[in-house]
This record gives sequence, C-alpha cells and structure tokens, in this order.
Amino acid sequence: MTKDIIIIGGGPAGLTSAIYTSRARHSTLVIEEKAVGGQIILTTEIENYPGFPKGIMGPELGMLMEEQAKKFGTEIKYDSVKSINIDEKKVITEKEEYTCKAIIIATGATPSKLNLPKEEELTGRGISYCATCDGAFFKDQIVAVIGGGNTAVEEALFLTNFAKKVYLIHRRDKLRAEKCLQERLFEHDKIEVIWNTIVDSLEGDDSLKGINIKNKITGQISLLPLDGLFIFVGYTPKTEFLKGLLELDENGYIKVNEKNQTSIPWIFAAGDCISKPYKQIATAVGDGCTAALSAIAYLEGY
Ligand SMILES: Cc1cc2nc3c(=O)[nH]c(=O)nc-3n(C[C@H](O)[C@H](O)[C@H](O)COP(=O)(O)OP(=O)(O)OC[C@H]3O[C@@H](n4cnc5c(N)ncnc54)[C@H](O)[C@@H]3O)c2cc1C
Repeated sequence: MTKDIIIIGGGPAGLTSAIYTSRARHSTLVIEEKAVGGQIILTTEIENYPGFPKGIMGPELGMLMEEQAKKFGTEIKYDSVKSINIDEKKVITEKEEYTCKAIIIATGATPSKLNLPKEEELTGRGISYCATCDGAFFKDQIVAVIGGGNTAVEEALFLTNFAKKVYLIHRRDKLRAEKCLQERLFEHDKIEVIWNTIVDSLEGDDSLKGINIKNKITGQISLLPLDGLFIFVGYTPKTEFLKGLLELDENGYIKVNEKNQTSIPWIFAAGDCISKPYKQIATAVGDGCTAALSAIAYLEGY
C-alpha cells in the first residue's frame, strides 16, 4: 500500500496530525499498535484541555479526535511498526510494508518502572501503572502511589474511589503537581503523603504484600504493608525501533527542530516521543499540528 503520509501512533499527537494532513487532501494512514487515543484512554477526567470547562473523560476525548480525523478521510490500521526503511521510504510493520512520501512519528511514551527486583513478576499481582485500569481491584484495600507530578496526584485522588487508604510516597519534600491538585490531595482524609522517601524493595512472592520504604534523610528503612502499588515516576519514549535511524537524545527521545522535523528531512515527529520539557495533551496536539503543517509544506515544496 502507498500513502502520502504515514503517521505512526494514534494518540493525541498522531490524530491531530491526521486531521491536518487529511484535510489538506494528502492520503493519510495512521498505524496504531494498541488503542486509538493513546495514553488518554488510561485516565478518567481531563480538566486542563481547553474547550471542555466541565472536563472530559479521556476515552471520550480520544474517540472525538478519532472521529474528526476519519471525517476528513484518515485511514486507521491496527498494527505495530517495527522499522523504517529509509532508502526506500518504507514503513515495516508486523503484518505489512507500506511506502510513503513522508512519515510523522507520534509513538508517545510508556510509564517508567522503578527497576526493582520482583517488579516484573508482581506487575498485575499488586503492582500497576494505570489506576483507571486496575483501581477497582483494590476496593476497601490499602494502596500506595509513587510519584509527585500531576499524574501521580490525579491517580491518587482517583484511587480514593475504591481504596480505604492511599499513601502518596514522594522522594522530595514538595510536589511538582499543579497547586489545585495539591490542595485536593492534602484535603482528602483517605490520603497520607510520605515525604522524602523512596521504595527500597518489594515484599511478596505470588502477590504484593508490602514495600520497604527508605527515608532519604534518616536512611531508616521500614515495612509498609500494602495490597496495591501504583507507579507514576515518569515515562520512557517508545522509540526503540528508531535507534540508529534517527537522531535521539540521551534518554531516547527524538530530536526535532522548530518545525518538528527530525534528522531525516521527510520524517517528522510529535508529542511525548520528542525531546521537550512538558508532556501534556495540549503540547502533543500543538506538536501534531506543527509536524503535519511541516510535512505538508515538505510534500508541496514550499
Ligand atoms: C494516567 C495518565 C493521566 C494523564 N492525565 C493527563 C491530563 O489530565 N492532562 C494532560 O494534558 N495530559 C495528561 N496525561 C498525559 C497525556 O496523556 C500525554 O501527554 C498524551 O497522551 C501524549 O500524546 P501522544 O500522542 O504524544 O502519545 P500517546 O498518547 O502515548 O500515544 C502514542 C500512541 O502510539 C502508539 N504506538 C507506540 N509505538 C507504536 C508502534 N511502534 N507502532 C504503532 N503504534 C505505536 C501507542 O500505542 C499509543 O497509542 C496523562 C497521562 C497518563 C498516563
């Protein structure tokens, strides 16, 4: 199959690019390996995306973006991109090969792990990286959230709908999250914040039984019995398949110029997979727009 533009990833960045490229009458294919909507389908209410003063549920926003892209002719295929053949301008997926004139990479990021022994074995057995997906399994139980940014605080608040007690464990003495989220967190009687603390090790064999936490100031280690542990300590870009093909920064994020163009002139990139300081829906949408307009300009030669 040949398309003018192939967009890898169907999250907010990829879908925004698709709206612009298909409206410009360039045949557009979005290839998505999991679910259209990207990370936003993992969350509940989004309060900081403009145009929705009452907030909007993440999955609903994803569906609306998909509908808007399809309305202008975007085609969506469920498949996983494994590589790009730079010389032949080919996108190679698990199932097929596609030729194109330009590519927009919008593969986003996945939650980082703590990289502790037993973390992998206990994932799905008490450890989770998605409160929306797994929160309901912890009704009337005790859980902890690790992290101090917006996602950690939002998800801790969400978990109070199920758990009887939610600890928020943060390695510093203040949070990075927006002040209005912090206010809600501190007011909540089910939430207790444990400051200056990191997870030292995990307890449990078949399922998580607790964590050993280390106070960074005193060095003291103590056992915190838990039923669930939700980890929100940053993200890892989904750019493994691009190593050696495009310029990446030291953390694996794609380097782009102000036009969202990568080190290969006909490949553009947008959203959480690029090297940039703030990773939000609004910034992903902005990048998606810039990448699309740049790809269109490249194809139309202006
Ligand atoms: C729990 C949670 C809550 C959040 N809450 C908010 C919020 O309230 N407000 C806000 O602004 N932001 C929020 N965010 C952040 C926001 O969701 C992201 O910044 C945004 O989704 C980034 O969009 P993206 O399109 O760049 O990437 P993503 O949303 O990560 O989408 C990338 C897509 O690419 C696909 N993909 C990856 N690799 C491949 C491949 N090789 N082949 C095919 N497809 C591939 C993925 O499956 C995914 O669907 C939240 C994130 C999380 C996890």
